[in-house]
Amino acid sequence: MNETEKEITVKEPGINEIFGENVFNDAVMRERLPKKTYKELKKTIDNGKDLDPLTAEVVAHAMKEWALEKGATHYTHWFQPLTGITAEKHDSFISHEDEEGRVMMEFSGKELIKGEPDASSFPSGGLRATFEARGYTAWDCTSPAFVKESGCGKILCIPTAFCSYKGEALDKKTPLLRSMEALSDQAVRLVRLFGNTEATKVTASVGPEQEYFLVDKDLYLKRPDLMFAGRTLFGAPAPKGQEMEDHYYGVIRERVGEFMKDLNRELWKLGVTAKTQHNEVAPAQHELAPIYETANIAVDHNQLVMETMKRVAVRHNMRCLLHEKPYAGVNGSGKHNNWSITTNNGVNLLDPGDTPNENIQFLLVLSCIIKAIDIHADLLRQSAADVGNDHRLGANEAPPAIMSIFLGEQLDDVVHQLIETGEANNVKQGGTLQTGVKALPNVQKDATDRNRTSPFAFTGNKFEFRSVGSADSIASPNTILNAIVAEAFCEAADELEKADDLDMAIHDMIKKNLGEHERIIFNGDGYSDEWVEEAQRRGLPNIKSMIEAASALTTDKAVKLFEKFGIFTRTELESREEIIYETYAKTINIEALTMIEMAGKQIIPAVITYSRELADTVNAVAAAGADASVEKELLQEVSKKLAEMKKALKALQEGEKKVSAITDSREQAFFYKDTIRELMESLRAPADELEMIVDKRLWPIPTYGELMFEV
Ligand code: ADP
Ligand code: MG
Repeated sequence: MNETEKEITVKEPGINEIFGENVFNDAVMRERLPKKTYKELKKTIDNGKDLDPLTAEVVAHAMKEWALEKGATHYTHWFQPLTGITAEKHDSFISHEDEEGRVMMEFSGKELIKGEPDASSFPSGGLRATFEARGYTAWDCTSPAFVKESGCGKILCIPTAFCSYKGEALDKKTPLLRSMEALSDQAVRLVRLFGNTEATKVTASVGPEQEYFLVDKDLYLKRPDLMFAGRTLFGAPAPKGQEMEDHYYGVIRERVGEFMKDLNRELWKLGVTAKTQHNEVAPAQHELAPIYETANIAVDHNQLVMETMKRVAVRHNMRCLLHEKPYAGVNGSGKHNNWSITTNNGVNLLDPGDTPNENIQFLLVLSCIIKAIDIHADLLRQSAADVGNDHRLGANEAPPAIMSIFLGEQLDDVVHQLIETGEANNVKQGGTLQTGVKALPNVQKDATDRNRTSPFAFTGNKFEFRSVGSADSIASPNTILNAIVAEAFCEAADELEKADDLDMAIHDMIKKNLGEHERIIFNGDGYSDEWVEEAQRRGLPNIKSMIEAASALTTDKAVKLFEKFGIFTRTELESREEIIYETYAKTINIEALTMIEMAGKQIIPAVITYSRELADTVNAVAAAGADASVEKELLQEVSKKLAEMKKALKALQEGEKKVSAITDSREQAFFYKDTIRELMESLRAPADELEMIVDKRLWPIPTYGELMFEV
């Protein structure tokens, strides 16, 4: 290496140097805010105390100075409307010129705590007519502000909740925050009964494992279906899929590795604790998991993870596919939502300890959760519904659409002892793993094996909700989890607070909860047909699609739950149900139109070209006096499938006409699901068969093999 080369070798800063670099976090606040202001703000963050305007003013000033030093030019209230993604509208810090023509930078307390974007173009499900466009964003100071770097430069992002003029939640954040408060209040009541006088708050923590696919940019740009629908709508299977099981945890390819390295650094700068990365089951599928954190921050960070994945992929000449089912025939993507609840004096209520049978508080909490999931299985199912996830849930690769709980051998045994005798005197332990190799150290086994087929599995000191879709916001699943568990805690506390003999009452309640809701516990193979039958016998709901799940939001049972804890009003719930139908219809409509365009403008013309070439060949071969029977046969086969395809195309076009005439949104959504989707399948089938016959040179779109193996 010569001198000049040496000079340009710059050592990259380490994780500890860049972590949180772009976050207005506690350390920055402590350093930059006057002591009194810092204390006031902390009171708001920790205890939900109202923030006074004077404090807001001081915080805004410090935040602005910090952001300007980072090179930020704009600020935005960063919120999460009902589209499921995030929204931002940038305002520069520029305010006015002074007498000497110098521009002044301003950012007031009012601008920090309140914004007023025109809300008319966000989905509101009837909550707001366009003439009542006013919507407000309000600072969620419990989630730290950050500076985002993108093509726009550097933007100060302030996490906010988004509500209408009348205070109705127009976003996913507000109900989540409300549900966290409800859960905290009720859980505190519960731990009080066990003599915990210190805890004043209980927090839901969430760690979402994000799955995704990567695809080469040039190939992506040749696939209108990937561009418009995020998934392939045509495509014959590649000769190789995931059957060799060689991709899962396999060595990460160079280009993907470079992407991951870049992604991690971007996320670390934003304070996202990107921790685990690996290849997933399907070719070109990967996963990133952060370390768990407070639910609303985890929700914000998961949005940042998804957004950053897309942005960084572009930099590496790839595209990131977050859709739940980009390719037929191989695994789709989900987002395991790990959830636990912890008191602010450090007790994880889901930690059973070594002897769960003696941990009465844990058993009460567990029995309440079991009750909550059984009573509200439909709501939990609904919370994981999105259009893409309809391809996964119940499709033998992801958890079934039937909600059930996996407890594992150890807890299942304890629960059964309790149900049968009211006592659990012994507990199965994991023991030591015998590898049969003397040189290997002994490894302590967990008390229970894993069950990948369960939608809601107990995994040591947390529950893992596995049904969530990869593209979806995790706000809804966590709102629902918090809400239903808050209700069960509340019912328990109501009764136990009145009990004369508390120990006895707790004991009876655990037994009662477990006995009454045992049917929701299932430790077997969730993919099997037997389970579908068994679940039906048990009376568990099996809700197969997003739009069938939607009405779970507005049942009397649901409205009562949400109104009791002020999480959603009936109107807010109705608006969400409405948006589900609209979103579903719009999404399938885009898919259908994309298919019509690809079939009509790309695939059919290519097949016609091939037919013409074949016909010419038949003539030429025959003219030469040779046997043209193979060419003829091929031509006939192609013509037959082409006719099939044309007919299916016409049927889909007619279906589209019919569906657009339906005015009721629910009815329209069901027409899309029951009729249009079938017509789409009928169009895809002959096209995929043709792909296997037509000369590769003429096939107009990249194949599955190219898309999945050329990354
Ligand atoms: P797995 O082996 O289940 O794939 P991963 O390491 O990929 O595990 O992801 C597990 C996720 O669960 C991580 O995001 C992790 O931070 C999170 N997690 C761990 N403990 C808890 C907890 N007590 N509460 C919530 N999430 C947790
Ligand atoms: Mg994982």
